[in-house]
Amino acid sequence: MTVEAETRNIPHFIGGRAVTAVASRTSDVFDPNSGRVQARVALGTASELQQAVDAAQAAQPAWAAVNPQRRARVMFEFKRLVERDMDDLARLLASEHGKVVADAKGDIQRGLDVVEFACGIPHVLKGEYTQGAGPGIDVYSMRQPIGIGAGITPFNFPAMIPLWMSAVAMACGNAFILKPSERDPSVPVRLAELFMEAGLPAGIFQVVHGDKEMVDAILDHPAISAVSFVGSSDIAHYVYRRGVDNGKRVQAMGGAKNHGIVMPDADLDQTVADLCGAAFGSAGERCMALPVVVPVGQDTAERLKAKLVPAIEALRVGVSTDAEAHYGPVVTAQHKARIEQWIQTGVDEGAELVVDGRGFSLQGHEDGFFVGPTLFDHVTPDMSAYREEIFGPVLQMVRADSFEGALALPSQHQYGNGVAIFTRNGHAAREFAARVNVGMVGINVPIPVPVAYHSFGGWKRSGFGDHNQHGEEGVRFWTKVKTVTQRWPNASGAASGSSLSDAFMIPTMK
Ligand code: NAD
Repeated sequence: MTVEAETRNIPHFIGGRAVTAVASRTSDVFDPNSGRVQARVALGTASELQQAVDAAQAAQPAWAAVNPQRRARVMFEFKRLVERDMDDLARLLASEHGKVVADAKGDIQRGLDVVEFACGIPHVLKGEYTQGAGPGIDVYSMRQPIGIGAGITPFNFPAMIPLWMSAVAMACGNAFILKPSERDPSVPVRLAELFMEAGLPAGIFQVVHGDKEMVDAILDHPAISAVSFVGSSDIAHYVYRRGVDNGKRVQAMGGAKNHGIVMPDADLDQTVADLCGAAFGSAGERCMALPVVVPVGQDTAERLKAKLVPAIEALRVGVSTDAEAHYGPVVTAQHKARIEQWIQTGVDEGAELVVDGRGFSLQGHEDGFFVGPTLFDHVTPDMSAYREEIFGPVLQMVRADSFEGALALPSQHQYGNGVAIFTRNGHAAREFAARVNVGMVGINVPIPVPVAYHSFGGWKRSGFGDHNQHGEEGVRFWTKVKTVTQRWPNASGAASGSSLSDAFMIPTMK
């Protein structure tokens, strides 16, 4: 692999400034379009984390004491700055991730949607109040920040997912330490710089880079009270267990294998367009991608396949800056090899390979990490290529004989992130939404990522912990509730006239 003469070093962002550590270990950051190393990122240690925690501890109490309206104003200004720099941020993101620039803008925009939600934080932070809960007694509750929170994020949404977590955490009055993916770490550092420009105090949003060593340091640090993780399921489960063992609050979102159910009455032209976008957009590297399609009935399967195959063969794979491309390269050479290995496994397990995307080469970009679109038919639930997440541009068709058979597939799968049903039948859609054992459901919506003021979270091995991302769920995760029971005696004595003997009983409001 060629390393360019002047390789850029991507710094940590600690205490309000870029910090270039003298790291004993670094990780290469590629341009997936060319296959070349374009930068290096330091893999940090407990020592850099300690610097970040020190800065967070120094800054957080004053930030929590700032009234929520002023914290919201920082979010408003940050949103303006990101919009100002949208083109540059999207190009930078695409150059490390490989998604096309228009899709990179969507990644940033979905993060900004959560920033917009955080602009309304004064309203959602209002507590509860009961006047006269007992004689002369009032009860009120308030939400207070947890203190210092950390986010550990995956490569596939380097802007959206850090903003899901940090915007809500910081608006609630916390300091936030981000450990982004080491594969595309530049945009998170730019976000840190923009937060400073927006007026956020130093030490409230910080970025420490690294791999397992840094993640373990975060999970073991006693001053970090809450950890939000998004990534693959085995690591999500590990992070959840280790964090909880250390007494932290942890939410850990994992992998996915989302199904799209196609009923016999579905509008097939619309469904094919939706399936192509959801299965192959961003090269299938989305946790809300739709890599499994389940036509109900053999006739539906044949009609769908007849339309799907030419649509897939017409897809344009190109570099991130190609405005006509439907999708770009995958993130690394290792990931490309892994996807191609899964395609081989599907063949070995007996599925019918209808469109083969292996060995795809883009003229002029022969070393880029491109994988062509791939379609399998006659995939069955016993195949490991069906059970596991591939996270590439591979669509698998699993044929079902009935609505009940189709409903059982996503319900019984180990993952339960998202699912979609395509139908004109309102009753079938309603039944499906009520009964399917999956966290997020689309009805004629292929990628049902909830809007920012609702919340995002999957079930089963797609999510460990009990709070979703963003919306009011996010506010609950990043705050703790304090409840006050108060009695104010009047000038002449006790408010409720309780006697000495009463004082020995468990208080009741009788
Ligand atoms: P990943 O699990 O490899 O990495 C996620 C984070 O964990 C990174 O910050 C990484 O540095 C860290 N990490 C990696 N190995 C570790 C280890 N052994 N111990 C501790 N930490 C470690 O995931 P990825 O490849 O970056 O992202 C793709 C995965 O994320 C897919 O499985 C996808 O479905 C999932 N994902 C889930 C959601 C969701 O909301 N459910 C959203 C996006 C992505």
